[in-house]
Amino acid sequence: MSRSKRIYVDVDDVVSRTTETYTRIVREEFGRTVPFENLTTFDLRASFQLTDNEFHYFFDLVHQHDLLLGFAPVDGAIDVLNAWSGQGHCIEIVTGRPTSARDVTLEWLDRHGVTYNEFIMVDKYNRPGNDPAVAVSKSDLAARTYDLAVEDSGEMALFLAEEMGVTTALKDRPWNRGCTDHDRLVRCMSWEDIKPLAT
Ligand SMILES: [Mg+2]
Repeated sequence: MSRSKRIYVDVDDVVSRTTETYTRIVREEFGRTVPFENLTTFDLRASFQLTDNEFHYFFDLVHQHDLLLGFAPVDGAIDVLNAWSGQGHCIEIVTGRPTSARDVTLEWLDRHGVTYNEFIMVDKYNRPGNDPAVAVSKSDLAARTYDLAVEDSGEMALFLAEEMGVTTALKDRPWNRGCTDHDRLVRCMSWEDIKPLAT
């Protein structure tokens, strides 16, 4: 049996179908239909062409407890995480969500039966209002070691690959297609492609 690996797993758009849900919310709330494939930037305000007011309303809305709890899981994600745990790998859930979303995120993971060893919040995007007692900084993250990471943010994936030397599965999403190539970045279309990276 191969040795146990320490694996970093992002939440939004890796395990949880977050942005796909946003397209429905933007349609319902603002009557604006933006196809998922058009979401070519990580900046939701720009992707959905929201005004400042619309964006603040949207941001508050999508961070409400019931809505966050209702996100569907990404196909295959939970099966693979549970299989990895069964193989003795150590799963760290590493989210950049606002620190206010901590409890509901733990509740979501529990509701969907996700097996993991650690849960950490990282201030990936310099969010104002994040509680520094709850979220660690990117430099604190860089002091940790991983054998594999799964991310959809091109910027975070490059940070993991370049700064931290971690083999990183970049879950293919329209907003990361312009991400710079790197030897340690592996673009993956699905969890079926990601699974063998831990064996
Ligand atoms: Mg993400």
